[in-house]
Amino acid sequence: MALLKRPNGTEDILPGASSDWQTLEKFLRDTADTFGFSEIRVPTFEQTELFSRGVGETTDVVQKEMYTVSARESTFTLRPEGTAGTIRAILQNGLLNEALPQRVYYILSCFRHERPQAGRLREFHQFGVEMAGSASPAADAEVISLAKQILDQVGVENIELHINSIGCPVCRKKYHEALKAYFAPHREELCETCQERLEKNPMRLLDCKSPICKEIGKDAPEILDYLCEDCSTHFAQLKKNLDLLDISYSVDPRIVRGLDYYTKTVFEFVTTSIGAQGTVCGGGRYDGLIEQLGGPSTPALGFGMGLERLLLVLRNQGVTLGEPKRVDVYFAPMGDAAADKALQLTAMLRREGISAQTDVMGRSLRAQMKYADKIGARFTVVIGDNELAENQAKLKNMQSGEQISVPLDAAFAERFSDIEIADRLAKE
Ligand code: ATP
Ligand code: MG
Repeated sequence: MALLKRPNGTEDILPGASSDWQTLEKFLRDTADTFGFSEIRVPTFEQTELFSRGVGETTDVVQKEMYTVSARESTFTLRPEGTAGTIRAILQNGLLNEALPQRVYYILSCFRHERPQAGRLREFHQFGVEMAGSASPAADAEVISLAKQILDQVGVENIELHINSIGCPVCRKKYHEALKAYFAPHREELCETCQERLEKNPMRLLDCKSPICKEIGKDAPEILDYLCEDCSTHFAQLKKNLDLLDISYSVDPRIVRGLDYYTKTVFEFVTTSIGAQGTVCGGGRYDGLIEQLGGPSTPALGFGMGLERLLLVLRNQGVTLGEPKRVDVYFAPMGDAAADKALQLTAMLRREGISAQTDVMGRSLRAQMKYADKIGARFTVVIGDNELAENQAKLKNMQSGEQISVPLDAAFAERFSDIEIADRLAKE
């Protein structure tokens, strides 16, 4: 029978690579923790309307990329991003009545029907944070500095922070007029989606991936020239805070971000190390979103960081994260009585948190040693009749070849821990 394959644009994370993910995830959790962010876990699928309202009808994500599934009479959408579901959960569970600002983070899978390529998948993972309740630029700086600290400490190089302000509905009104006037003469040349956007949400045109629309938009008016006083003060304050935190940035008036309901600050962390898909993190302020989702008008902001992209960058830069897990002790028994003993010793070590294995294949001693070598066992113990009679065996350090006698009973674990500590110290 033919083997079935995974869907295009999805990935298998194999045992040899999962330690990278585990190390990265632990690091993300720990860092989020130091910034006072707590984890939130939300459903993988939500009502479709949550995303059309929470991401925006005129975005690529909603117009082209959503996976909408039906089961019996209901339809749902697999989350294309984490913000909408998180805000829905914050509202549904009354978290805005608790201490503000609310600071939450998540690590989750997202689903977007895009053309798969390096760093662009149909199922991918995001680490994201959302902070709700603060309108202050200090909150923007805090969220940006969290992303920055992660990228720095994990070892990413050539990372640039690009910031922009896309104003608020007040300044955007005038800006939209200016954009419409600018694009109107090129109407027929624009892609179909952008022709529609020109009426509904002209700023979206600047986010179009089509080379023709990009070229036409080259000299489009810039939002920064249209900011109202409030928005421009906010932007100036943010820049001052970033300076105080020693975070360098460049202002890029082209960033409008893929999602609607962003207001004021938008930012991206871009690396030059993986070519076209260089944006590892994107975020911004979305003061209009909570109200858009039926909640009380509440300022909020956040970011999403693409973990596949981050790992791709790290791999390209030669940064290694986790050591793949190895087996501490492999027991190689010869004969049935020895196998019984090995079974018990293995179970005992595992209860002590020491990773141990023994033969479950009925292999010869030679084949067992080959296996122990393949799985990278750090220590091996051969158990034969003599060892059973003496209730003692040799623990062999597979790297140094050194052998030390160990008792084959309850005292094994303690003796092993001493030996292991000595081995570690010797290596340091
Ligand atoms: P892009 O411009 O690359 O399409 P986006 O604006 O659609 O990105 P966001 O919605 O802001 O991306 O998502 C935040 C982050 O998630 C991105 O910066 C990126 O690192 C990652 N990301 C987005 N789409 C994908 C995807 N299809 N595959 C892998 N990672 C992705
Ligand atoms: Mg996209």
